[in-house]
Amino acid sequence: MKILEKAPAKINLGLDTSFRYPDGSPQWNMVMTSVDLADYVSIQTYANSNKVSVATDSGFLPNDQRNLAYQAVHILKSRFHQTDGVNVTIKKQIPVAAGLGGGSADAAAVLRGLNQMWSLGLSLEELAKISLTIDSDVPYCIYNQTAHVTGHGEKIKLIDSSPHYPIVIAKPKVSVSTPVILRQIDYDSLNHLNINQLINSLTHRDTDVMFASMGNVLEPITAKAYPEIDELKRKMLSLGADVAQMSGTGPSVFAICRKLSRAKRLQNSLRGFCHEVYLVRAL
Ligand code: ATP
Repeated sequence: MKILEKAPAKINLGLDTSFRYPDGSPQWNMVMTSVDLADYVSIQTYANSNKVSVATDSGFLPNDQRNLAYQAVHILKSRFHQTDGVNVTIKKQIPVAAGLGGGSADAAAVLRGLNQMWSLGLSLEELAKISLTIDSDVPYCIYNQTAHVTGHGEKIKLIDSSPHYPIVIAKPKVSVSTPVILRQIDYDSLNHLNINQLINSLTHRDTDVMFASMGNVLEPITAKAYPEIDELKRKMLSLGADVAQMSGTGPSVFAICRKLSRAKRLQNSLRGFCHEVYLVRAL
């Protein structure tokens, strides 16, 4: 049996955190949306084999238990005592370690696919709960809809509206380690966002308020180590973006433009500056 699942990238329209849990992980207060830049995850099951294999076309991603898709297979296999062999093949389109949730999207796609193939009958809510042990972004990626995400990443409240403007995502050529950035959060110096205002502005399609309420409290931390972030943001704004900010722990920066013509111009202009540039829409 074979199934193909789409695994869309996410961006953080709002990213905030108020404290650390005793286990050291941040309490999140985020607004996320998924975009039409996606990996393609092919999942094949074999009876009487029990072997798990993961392959990607990226050349440098691990194919063993370090791959989040591999972890997703094992979680469902052990929890539901499935003895099928599983072969996962991932066509990567989402830049890796970019703050766009690529690995989490792949893991979520595997969970959705196997839930269907093995007729487990799990709701999205149940899948999200199971998935949290893989990575804090996986529960959100189970849904792939604009949402308010809190807790460790497992509390998902869907928002019935997405930003309907073109979005340009650019990834500078630097590698950012998520744990290194998260360890540097100084909770006394964060400039907190008004996440409720951001949610209301999305619901009421109030673009001016939405742009004004967006933000990412991790941006100054990553930008301090990588000046390319601020440089890219400045460039996007000077080239006509209405708003520009970092996604996740970076280094990707996205810009929203009210006009498609401006977004196209921005995409073309950034190509000389950044080798990975994508023009996308929210799902
Ligand atoms: P994070 O959730 O850690 O902020 P990210 O969105 O910045 O992640 P990812 O593309 O998910 O970026 O990659 C983060 C790390 O996860 C990389 O070090 C990568 O080696 C590892 N990884 C494991 N499995 C995958 C996968 N299927 N696709 C991409 N990265 C993966």
